[in-house]
Amino acid sequence: MAYPCALTIAGSDSGGGAGIQADLKTFMMQGCYGLSVITALTAQNTRAVTAIEAPTPEFVAEQLRAVRADFPLRAAKTGMLFSEAIIAAVAQGLSDKDFPLVVDPVCVAQSGARLLLPEAVTALASRMFPLADLVTPNRHEAELLAAMPITSRADATTVIGRLLGLGARAVLLKGGHFADGEAVGTGFVADRLVLADGREWELVRPHVATRHTHGTGCTLSAAIAAHLALGKALPEAVEAARDYLQLALETAWELGQGDGPVNHLA
Ligand code: PLP
Repeated sequence: MAYPCALTIAGSDSGGGAGIQADLKTFMMQGCYGLSVITALTAQNTRAVTAIEAPTPEFVAEQLRAVRADFPLRAAKTGMLFSEAIIAAVAQGLSDKDFPLVVDPVCVAQSGARLLLPEAVTALASRMFPLADLVTPNRHEAELLAAMPITSRADATTVIGRLLGLGARAVLLKGGHFADGEAVGTGFVADRLVLADGREWELVRPHVATRHTHGTGCTLSAAIAAHLALGKALPEAVEAARDYLQLALETAWELGQGDGPVNHLA
């Protein structure tokens, strides 16, 4: 039997809501076996990231080697990659990969903490995008990576084009950080999926009125990787993952004193 093994290469969130912990829970909820390469440790709760400690790039590379040497990976995702040296280790370790990769270009947490050093932004694009079957930026990440603001649908199209130009095979521009009614009708969120061959989909879902959205991006990119590991084509994997995220937003727990984690147990 071909077991659906999915790998996350990301940072640990001691609060359990984002990063590695969100990814492994998400993999399991989709029916995948989850593996993890930890790129950074964060001391974190629902209110703040209070400290970050990163392993050596050599240790990141060794985790990746160990996992790849023994498990039949069917898909992977990257999240918090923290530094240029860790990005280089991950890119090198994935250079001969034979499975789809989702790159979540994590830069800054909702709480404001920097999860990617400013000097590593260029390396994230130049080293990781050419390996990516999909990149999943939110508005701020897309604006940073494409070096232009998005104030209209035409701007969004230009930004997506620039990100594809950096080597990604597809871009999912997430709609959660656009003002209500800015992209689609009031009360809805729209994510735009554009493939390098020009095919395009718009995923529209009702806006979920909750402040408990910690780990939203991690959960979505992990769910996409899981559905790719299960054998779905990219548009179907993105649709299924977005449906799962909707449930996780609707059932998010009010944990902690800050913004609680998205969550779905059923
Ligand atoms: N902590 C880690 C380790 C993460 O990877 C991420 C997001 O990718 C976050 C925190 C931030 O999560 P959020 O911005 O949803 O609060």
